[in-house]
Amino acid sequence: MFGGLRLGVYAGAPIILDWSVAILAAFLVLSNIAAGMSALPFALITLISILLAIFIHEMGHAATAAAFRIPNRRIVITGFGGFIEPAWKPAYRSQDILISAAGPAANLGCAAIGWVLLRALSPATTLEGFDDPLSFLERFMQVSLALGAFNLLPGFPLDGGHILRVALGYRVQESKAAKITAWLGLIIGAYLGLAGVATQALWATGIGLYIASAALEELRRLRNPTRKR
Ligand SMILES: [Zn+2]
Repeated sequence: MFGGLRLGVYAGAPIILDWSVAILAAFLVLSNIAAGMSALPFALITLISILLAIFIHEMGHAATAAAFRIPNRRIVITGFGGFIEPAWKPAYRSQDILISAAGPAANLGCAAIGWVLLRALSPATTLEGFDDPLSFLERFMQVSLALGAFNLLPGFPLDGGHILRVALGYRVQESKAAKITAWLGLIIGAYLGLAGVATQALWATGIGLYIASAALEELRRLRNPTRKR
């Protein structure tokens, strides 16, 4: 995994579009095609909005890390989100928190700008007419809001979980802070997975499982820190 298309370079780090993006594209097309071919523009608009929002999210992390003179090995956009690989841990907890917060903040900033633009340009736009470029703006705003808010949930491996973990580190031992946020991640992932099953939202189940398994892996690693990841 994490081979893919090289989009460019930012501050010395290659920006990579991971092949798993194809899974997201296939899922969006297949889940919308039941509604007929007319739903395909909606799938395409959603796909582009998600990838753009993930790109902006990761660039928020990367730019903040670069501002603290922390180089990144790579910036990866996947079908499930994305990540950056800083060359080393920030020297200060405050820097660590700011780098984590910058991703969701970039998304929420985009959502706010999109909202203002939409209200200014067309108060009555709905998602029904895809010939209208404003429907892309509306979709992008929705995706940005969802991505930004979701990532602020306080469980590992989400940004909110990382922020809480580092903030708790001011008060409790780091291993304890890590354990608390991993448990919260497990609860969030399990809840999302079950809610997805209950409402037949396959994407929610998938993301829930992804978060829960990452949180479980982290709990295992914390129990046996010498074990290789
Ligand atoms: Zn993030």
